Amino acid sequence: MGLLNWNSSQHYEHAGDYACTQCGKPTPLRAHSGEPVHKVCAEDWNDRNPNAPRHLHEERDLGTARFHSDPPRKNRKEGVR
Ligand SMILES: [Zn+2]
Repeated sequence: MGLLNWNSSQHYEHAGDYACTQCGKPTPLRAHSGEPVHKVCAEDWNDRNPNAPRHLHEERDLGTARFHSDPPRKNRKEGVR
């Protein structure tokens, strides 16, 4: 399983940390669903749930429906730094 791409700022919750749903430790990170989870914990969950429903974006498998990568950007105006 590949690593998740969570470059989008939507994954960082500035309002504060919540307990990760996987390890219970505080994290400012959020999955696409808004679920608080560390990126590594989400990747680990994906590894342990290979049969979970997949999230497809234009035919590409970006991970599971629960934890998946950001779709690739078509234009680079916003830039990723
Ligand atoms: Zn965690």
